[in-house]
Amino acid sequence: MRLVFLGPPGVGKGTQAENVSTNKDIPHVSSGDLLRDAVETKTETGLKAKEYIEKGLLVPDELVVKVVVGKITTECCKNGFILDGFPRNLSQAKILDETLNRLGEKIDKVFYFTAFEDVIIKRLAGRRICKSCGAHYHEVFKPPVKDKVCDECGAELQQRNDDKPETVSTRLKVYREQTEELIDYYRVSGGLVEIDCNGSVSEILKNILKEFRS
Ligand code: AMP
Repeated sequence: MRLVFLGPPGVGKGTQAENVSTNKDIPHVSSGDLLRDAVETKTETGLKAKEYIEKGLLVPDELVVKVVVGKITTECCKNGFILDGFPRNLSQAKILDETLNRLGEKIDKVFYFTAFEDVIIKRLAGRRICKSCGAHYHEVFKPPVKDKVCDECGAELQQRNDDKPETVSTRLKVYREQTEELIDYYRVSGGLVEIDCNGSVSEILKNILKEFRS
């Protein structure tokens, strides 16, 4: 099954993509994670992408397409994937369609996640990530047992630079201006399912999983 998770930063796409990935055994492909790995390992793509990520701007299409298409055309994704954070504009959506077309495949469902802006801002402000193993926490909704320390591996937790308030407002503006138009694109092409993400993680997951029965 080939799924796209669409929605503003902080709405909970990544958390739910992880949950659905575990529940349905479908690989989770996060464009943000792929780009952050590239930055961390200082690949050519990473070095070019870094300044865009730090400013909360979209990384140029040719860079992000390279890493995402590279990933979804590997053996591990041959039976499907959950795309989280990609596509983020119309040209990426068209490249994705063309790539899948060539392989005789298509997107089966697009989950469009929504939440009120104050909920999103609270989620982004409290998000913390383990420096070492990448486990996700939240200061309010999912705090670690010991303050600022990862439950899984004991390493220090940190806030993503682009989750700081000054960059969050740019990311939300970029979403409204460049990504929101994808909602209509996928509504027209069919298979768009809207999920209200104002509730708890378990409620949201329950609503997503219901869609697999229809
Ligand atoms: P995310 O982890 O999805 O919030 O993405 C973090 C950052 O990575 C974004 O603010 C962008 O700078 C970059 N990024 C992730 N996915 C894309 C994409 N599909 N197109 C362009 N830039 C992206």
